[in-house]
Amino acid sequence: MSLIVQKFGGSSVANADRVRNVAGIITDTYKAGNDVVVVVSAQGDTTDDLIEKSKEITLKPSKREMDMLLSAGEQISIALLAMAIKEMGYPVISLLGWQAGFITSSDYGAERIKTINTARLQAELSKGSIVIVAGFQGINKYDDVTTLGRGGSDTSAVALAAALHADKCQIFSDVDGVYTADPRKVPNAIKLEEITYDEMLELATLGAQVLNNRSVEMAKKYNVELEVLSSLTRQPGTIVKEVVTMEKMLVRGVTKDVNVARISITEVPDVPGIAFKIFSKLAAKNINVDIILQSVGREGTKDIAFTVSKDNADLAIEVLKTSIGEINPDNVALDTTVAKISVVGAGMETHPGAAAKMFEALYERNINIQMISTSEIKISVLIDAEHADEAVLAIHAKFMPVE
Ligand code: ADP
Ligand code: ASP
Ligand code: MG
Repeated sequence: MSLIVQKFGGSSVANADRVRNVAGIITDTYKAGNDVVVVVSAQGDTTDDLIEKSKEITLKPSKREMDMLLSAGEQISIALLAMAIKEMGYPVISLLGWQAGFITSSDYGAERIKTINTARLQAELSKGSIVIVAGFQGINKYDDVTTLGRGGSDTSAVALAAALHADKCQIFSDVDGVYTADPRKVPNAIKLEEITYDEMLELATLGAQVLNNRSVEMAKKYNVELEVLSSLTRQPGTIVKEVVTMEKMLVRGVTKDVNVARISITEVPDVPGIAFKIFSKLAAKNINVDIILQSVGREGTKDIAFTVSKDNADLAIEVLKTSIGEINPDNVALDTTVAKISVVGAGMETHPGAAAKMFEALYERNINIQMISTSEIKISVLIDAEHADEAVLAIHAKFMPVE
């Protein structure tokens, strides 16, 4: 007998028909003789709606209360899904994150899973029940309900698969796999049969929403093989694993991330220690810095520009303007109308020319590159957000010509 973890995203359980459809997938898996543990997200746009509700009350809510609010979405879906399965005549129980043993860190808002005490889960499974677990939530050492950050149900599922030594972890979504670009934006994107953890981690981190990046990190760490598939088509999806047998493509995917902001500081003294001062002050506030560009020094000064996520932009500006004597506050500028476009592929490590190809695609559309950063398996550029979708299409066409 196998143990299978299945995760269903918000669109898969958006309404009563979808809930029944998912109940059908789960019970088919159970009928085939498997133990089934299910992780489910909040229905449709529930989490976004809850965030909007909080804004009607305050723009600076307490993080603890925000966790309390957002965790409510998943509570609704587990109950409805369990009812649908019961209606079909199968033994089932729904569990909130804490009931399923999810213990998290205590930094409210985007906690990390520390451990999962699986005793209750195991007990329910041994009674023969299908177990439905609320994704995206846990409990911390103060017995407060916590959440795992947006898209966190993927991580709940992978963590459960690891803790229970599941034979399979299936992530059901509204797309039937991982594509070479967002299939909603790039109509001729190609579905991948397989992808490595490292490539998937880059894609997820650089904006491919289909899997949360922490879930991929965890899958790699605990060697949990993932399948990304659709809850609507029942077709095989994309397998995410350590080594893939497929012939290596130069580029595995093109992504867009609009959750970025560019900060530039002009006329900084051209002396040692300035970069250290700036980036250590930002790090002390937990602000992650991504692409960094420094100009050549001229007449004793230089310019430094870098990107942060949009949510950190205001705090970063405040730190720069108030806590670094060498910086003139008037010389600090913020631009939130930028997008980061990236290409990802392990094949680029051994094949030169990928960067030139990417830049050529942008040149042909007359799109200006503001910043560039590269690693072994990815190249990212920062451009004007207005051209983001066009850039993804152009770059995708350059690397994946359609016959
Ligand atoms: P769920 O609610 O099931 O968690 P998400 O909305 O988080 O689903 O993720 C699925 C969405 O990710 C798809 O609808 C698709 O538009 C988007 N997406 C972005 N990039 C990719 C990609 N490279 N491959 C597949 N889907 C992608
Ligand atoms: N409901 C949460 C969100 O919308 C978690 C998830 O869907 O994975 O971010
Ligand atoms: Mg998701």
